Amino acid sequence: MRDKIIELAKKCDADLVGFAPADRFEKNDAIFRLFPEVKTVIGLGFRVLRGIYRGVEEGTTYYQYTTMGVENLEETVMPMALLRVAGLIESEGYLALPQRRSPLILSETGETNPEMQYSDIYRGVTAETQLDFLDCAVKCGLGERSKIGTLLTPEYGPFIRYCFILTDMELALTPLFEGTLCDGCDECIKACHGGAIDKDGKLDTWQCAVYYSGANGKKNPFMPPEAFASYPHDRKMEIINGLAHFDAESAKEALENIYFYPPAKHYYRTSICGRACDRACYIHLEAKGVLTKKFNHPFREKPDWELSTKQYQTGKRED
Ligand code: SF4
Ligand code: SF4
Repeated sequence: MRDKIIELAKKCDADLVGFAPADRFEKNDAIFRLFPEVKTVIGLGFRVLRGIYRGVEEGTTYYQYTTMGVENLEETVMPMALLRVAGLIESEGYLALPQRRSPLILSETGETNPEMQYSDIYRGVTAETQLDFLDCAVKCGLGERSKIGTLLTPEYGPFIRYCFILTDMELALTPLFEGTLCDGCDECIKACHGGAIDKDGKLDTWQCAVYYSGANGKKNPFMPPEAFASYPHDRKMEIINGLAHFDAESAKEALENIYFYPPAKHYYRTSICGRACDRACYIHLEAKGVLTKKFNHPFREKPDWELSTKQYQTGKRED
């Protein structure tokens, strides 16, 4: 049955499949609150195609990352795979509980999910029964937790999204990933367009939300000269230069001023930073030669680009 699950998951576009026995989890883990009889957690990993990041990397097309790399994977490809694999398990007489992220539900009232429109997020709703997705992925042997709390896989580095199935079927385990991909190089921290990750790797979700959506004028080809016109000039330039600090309230105000690009459906904000943190990490891991999925050319072949912010000084478009 394990082979059949892997075969079907791969037919449904999963690139990685891992199996964690329930005894890898603490007794108070959410998996037992969700499904007390759970015997196995099945992790499915879906690579975000490297080509999808190209547009952001080159500053040419941005929509593909958010629609194809985030929204379509999370809302279409991954749920379809979950349903089909869960269906296979249930056809054998076992229960299968699919688990995809609930991106609009946060247990922390003070946090946000930078990928989503902040005003559509439900905060403070109990999320006790939501899995710790990163922990599950590690326990399923898909990869390791990086310094900044992303999943790094030996195949695709940080270019991966994942979901799970809990089942009462016992299946042979996948060994935990034993390698070390994250070397603490801090390239991810340095690459962020808005200083959203501190030196210890902690992400400020509101700071990230503002710069994920494109507040840095040096990295946003769509920002008009009159952007942030209602702000005092110094504050405006601080924001546009990626140097401003935001708390929740000031971040919400800034986000209301960042609609320079159409949003995707399902409440997803368009990523203008194009996850520069993950791209920097990928470039670093690729250069070290530690990723097993090889390409004919390196991901970044020329220096990273940056736009002039002169037009924001005057509020007039530069020709
Ligand atoms: S860039 Fe990647 S390898 Fe380097 S510290 Fe960040 S997560 Fe770790
Ligand atoms: S690069 Fe983008 S996704 Fe990464 S921390 Fe910065 S704003 Fe957030």
